[in-house]
Amino acid sequence: MLNDFRKISDFEWELPAGFRDDMRAAVRFFATRSLLEDALGDLSVEQAMNAATLPGVTGHVMVMPDVHQGYGFPIGGVAAMRYQDGVVSPGAIGYDINCGVRLMASRIELEEARPLLDKLAAALDHFCPSGVGTRGERLLKQNELEDVCAQGSRWAKKSGAATEMDLARTEEGGRLAGANPASVSRKAFERAKDQLGTLGSGNHFIEVDVVEDIFDARAAELMGLEPGCLCLLIHCGSRGFGHQICTDYVQDFQSVARRYDLHLPDRELVCAPLESPEGKKYLEAMWCAANYAFANRQLLAHQARKAFESVFAGKVQDWHLFQVYDIAHNMGKEEIHQIEGRETRVCVHRKGATRAFGPGSVDVPDSFRTIGQPVLVPGSMGTASWVLTGTETSMERSLGSCCHGAGRVMSRTKAKHSVRGEDLRRDLLQRGIRVQAGSNAGLAEEAPQAYKDVDEVVKVVSGAGIAQKVARLRPVVVVKG
Ligand code: 5GP
Ligand code: MN
Ligand code: MN
Repeated sequence: MLNDFRKISDFEWELPAGFRDDMRAAVRFFATRSLLEDALGDLSVEQAMNAATLPGVTGHVMVMPDVHQGYGFPIGGVAAMRYQDGVVSPGAIGYDINCGVRLMASRIELEEARPLLDKLAAALDHFCPSGVGTRGERLLKQNELEDVCAQGSRWAKKSGAATEMDLARTEEGGRLAGANPASVSRKAFERAKDQLGTLGSGNHFIEVDVVEDIFDARAAELMGLEPGCLCLLIHCGSRGFGHQICTDYVQDFQSVARRYDLHLPDRELVCAPLESPEGKKYLEAMWCAANYAFANRQLLAHQARKAFESVFAGKVQDWHLFQVYDIAHNMGKEEIHQIEGRETRVCVHRKGATRAFGPGSVDVPDSFRTIGQPVLVPGSMGTASWVLTGTETSMERSLGSCCHGAGRVMSRTKAKHSVRGEDLRRDLLQRGIRVQAGSNAGLAEEAPQAYKDVDEVVKVVSGAGIAQKVARLRPVVVVKG
């Protein structure tokens, strides 16, 4: 199979349209040879080829170096569908709608914080509820939930849990237009009402990192990232709400696909025409979940600020956490791109992939307009995480998209069998990383060995020119659900 790929560069490989009879578009992999070989070990390639058969698919289906197989479509996959004649597929957006990452910076130096790190771990754990089925501070009424759906992060501003700067430095200002609560099931709302402001479990985390290396001094300065200072990463999504919405529409679309005579290579890739009533209804519901997720990360950020205040106020000169950026990595967005020489209105499906718009884009906050959109790439609890920026090349080569993490190499089950949670906790502590986790088994599933080498993944996206390195972060406190 490796020989079927046309090598475009050391970091780009292509399977041409027509490689399989039913493919309408090419599939392009951003990877080193060895990462590509890894990808051939699961269903990722087949899933990307399946997406390339969908009506209205345009440009090429893209696969990022952190790829691994997912439900119907690979995590790390990007596919653009023309509004005119294309489809939307919930499986190509993901169950955790608007799962994403927020980065906040501080002026607290690691050296002054060191004696307080144990306290900080406990405070973050206390203020930011985590674990399966955890409940938020209070139950939201139906009208409040509908407000969250409509307003996203902005909803948090009324209660003083968001600043204008937080909102300005969030993708889409933390609010997608077009969300319509009437398209969301009662069951989804039922799951949403007590989960706002909670982290959930497993892969989601709140992490304190130290800024270790700077690669682009100007961009780092604009982002407020200072070497040797602490920053905070929040990784979380739309909790049970998004999951239920995806579940509902994957089920509904089974009959819709038949109605519109859509031929699916895989039932998991079920879809509906973008301009059909059913497709529109899903988009309206998906954007509700997206706004819920923005609000959720906003509340978690607010709670993390309380934790920082409780530990650092009076102990360090300035304990504040400043928003750097917040990005989605499971989302379908309406965008206009130059594709094959033509301006085309498309729905870009990014699953386990982030937007990475370049300098000059009107969708990049004013403060970052000259450097491009911040791109956040978490690695694992025991390795580096990266801050990058989108580039002009990313607009051309990857429809303004980039990788979202290191990506799994080991299944959860395999990780649980090959790593002992207690050993891992001790090893990490020896390396100065304090971990606060619900269970040792849960911890083992998230072991650094279960993920690819994030530095190699970042080498690919920077080598291919779709992102530029800004800073490398190193974890010191990790709170896992
Ligand atoms: P996903 O959204 O696909 O579950 O995860 C995104 C990425 O987060 C993963 O590919 C992995 O590289 C990274 N990641 C998972 N756990 C942690 C963690 O505890 N800390 C950091 N910094 N990154 C993590
Ligand atoms: Mn995620
Ligand atoms: Mn998630």
